[in-house]
Amino acid sequence: MVSTHHAPPATSAVHLRRLSRSYGEKTALSVDDLTIAPGEFVCLIGRSGSGKSTLLRALAGLDNDVTGSGHIEVPERRSVLFQDSRLLPWASVVDNVTLGLKGEASRVAARDSLADVGLAGRESDYPSRLSGGEQQRVALARSLVREPQLLLADEPFGALDALTRLRMHALLRRLVAEHRPTVVLVTHDVDEALSLGERVLVLEDGRVVLDRRPTPRTAQDRLDERQRLLAALGVDERNADQRLDVPA
Ligand code: ADP
Ligand code: MG
Repeated sequence: MVSTHHAPPATSAVHLRRLSRSYGEKTALSVDDLTIAPGEFVCLIGRSGSGKSTLLRALAGLDNDVTGSGHIEVPERRSVLFQDSRLLPWASVVDNVTLGLKGEASRVAARDSLADVGLAGRESDYPSRLSGGEQQRVALARSLVREPQLLLADEPFGALDALTRLRMHALLRRLVAEHRPTVVLVTHDVDEALSLGERVLVLEDGRVVLDRRPTPRTAQDRLDERQRLLAALGVDERNADQRLDVPA
């Protein structure tokens, strides 16, 4: 049985040790040792089935069947963002943001948080009135209104068109700079990982096979880093299909 510890806010780091998760015979996740510093922005990439979502669920505390003699230490306040916004269709935008929170203070915070994501004035709309990008911004507002110490995101922009995705990147960067949560974001897009992450982890068969802190100074550095990540993913750049998460 894995022990889960909640780190005190002052040291809201993430520590994983000897963590594994199997489905039947299949080992979906096997992490020996991983530490993520408070405030670090980590992108997790890997092919489909490499264990990215399994790792994210373990960090979120959504998986009770993580096994081994392992140890997980995560901050207590965590928020999770998924590819689909998971908004309640029958609840207004503001009610979706405050979901599970009580009191007038949380409604005020929700309004501020909606303004932060550029949705001031849309509080009483229903999700069906919003575009995909707007729905994802509501989901982001819902995550951030809880002031998470750890923000977990599983391909949050995967269903958005390229332009909307770039705008979401800018928005996320700004909000993270403001709120300073530790972030673990799963993506199948190497360029998204390089553009958002201070640190990029490549998963393969449930293991971390590459751990980079890219600090590109020149365009060439950036290309080299991109090449290194693609190589770790087993992608031949000459027929560079960036969308690694499509089943083989
Ligand atoms: P990723 O998010 O990188 O695509 P996952 O973490 O979802 O990968 O899955 C890792 C491995 O665990 C895959 O081989 C997948 O088939 C398996 N797996 C994930 N969830 C389940 C499940 N509920 N039941 C059985 N196998 C699963
Ligand atoms: Mg996944």
